[in-house]
Amino acid sequence: MKRTLASLDPAALDGRRALVRVDFNTPIRDGAVSDDTRIQAALPTIRYLRERGARVILLSHLGRPKGGPDPAFSLKPVARALEGMLGAPVTFLADPTTDDAVAETRRLPRGGVALGENTRFHAGEEANDPALAARFAALGDLYVNDAFGSAHRAHASTEGVARLLKPAVSGFLMERELEYLGRALDEPRRPFIAILGGAKISGKIDLIEALLPKVDEIVIGGAMACTFFRAMGLETGNSLVEEDRVELARELLGKGGRKIVLPSGAVVGRELKSDTETRTVHRNEIEPGWAMYDIDPMTEQDYAALIDAAGTVVWNGPMGVFETPPFNHGTLAIARAMAHAMGRGAVTIVGGGDSAAAVAEAGLEDQMTHVSTGGGASLEFLEGKPLPGVMALDDA
Ligand code: ADP
Ligand code: MG
Repeated sequence: MKRTLASLDPAALDGRRALVRVDFNTPIRDGAVSDDTRIQAALPTIRYLRERGARVILLSHLGRPKGGPDPAFSLKPVARALEGMLGAPVTFLADPTTDDAVAETRRLPRGGVALGENTRFHAGEEANDPALAARFAALGDLYVNDAFGSAHRAHASTEGVARLLKPAVSGFLMERELEYLGRALDEPRRPFIAILGGAKISGKIDLIEALLPKVDEIVIGGAMACTFFRAMGLETGNSLVEEDRVELARELLGKGGRKIVLPSGAVVGRELKSDTETRTVHRNEIEPGWAMYDIDPMTEQDYAALIDAAGTVVWNGPMGVFETPPFNHGTLAIARAMAHAMGRGAVTIVGGGDSAAAVAEAGLEDQMTHVSTGGGASLEFLEGKPLPGVMALDDA
């Protein structure tokens, strides 16, 4: 267990400079934030600190600039969006590594907020350079990490700084992520099932291996299913199959036995287009010239029944090419089944960027126990890997 922001004496926050690593890696369109979900997610921590008189200094990365300043990846639009959301001015630190920036943090009023420019404008960020971490550490009197989505990377603003600036605690978003994901894995209400999909089995091997001993069933969809089909000797036509993972899929089937549940049928299409000719076929009827783009309605029903009987459901990866309707049908069916399961008391957790997007598209975010904000981080957490950004925080 890691020390949390809530565990710090609130009176001791008054007037202190809280350096908060947030995940403001938001989409920017025409110089403005086009989706403020990630900013919203950090507000509880920011508000808590401000209300207790802390000076709040925020750091984040945005996109993948090539280790140098690039206006296209500036956090300035985020500062403007944040001002609107807080109804308070946000001081923008054009270079958070300078003495000027440190002086600015000292000039902030109690409850004042500053946002540093993109941490990735410094090559030392991703290299976890101790000198850069020390510059960041000079911006605060305590460190709060609320950037769950970046916790799987040992960077200067996530890992390095937490070793230098104490106390180093988790923010509310981070705490929630660790609590929900951790509890689902460690003390799941049973039956515990994992729904796994997406394009590639290769990115999810560690996940399957880590989950197999913990879950009662692993329910597979997406193109991943086709690599398993091939391992079973089935024809998969033009479906996306990872030829070099067929052998591994065969091993997993051997190891997982009846725990691994595969689709009984597929919706296949001629090409990946919304108006393409489609067919619903049994899994052993996929013909050359056709590709599986979704699970079929029968599989949707089977999977919905498994979800409905489960105590805990963890979902990562869409069931089909949900970006291209009608191949979003299976994915939406899973989202609805999970919302329904939560309604009768099951714990439902969504991890993974694309799965979370599908849930948002279905308007079902509020009907899940927890939708993780961290794609890669939630994956690594579920794989049982230690997250460097979390490890570096103080122990509770
Ligand atoms: P997540 O971000 O939730 O972890 P992934 O990134 O692993 O999910 O996989 C998402 C991608 O998988 C989507 O772009 C989707 O189109 C693709 N996908 C799912 N099913 C298929 C399929 N049958 N054929 C091709 N691509 C698929
Ligand atoms: Mg993805």
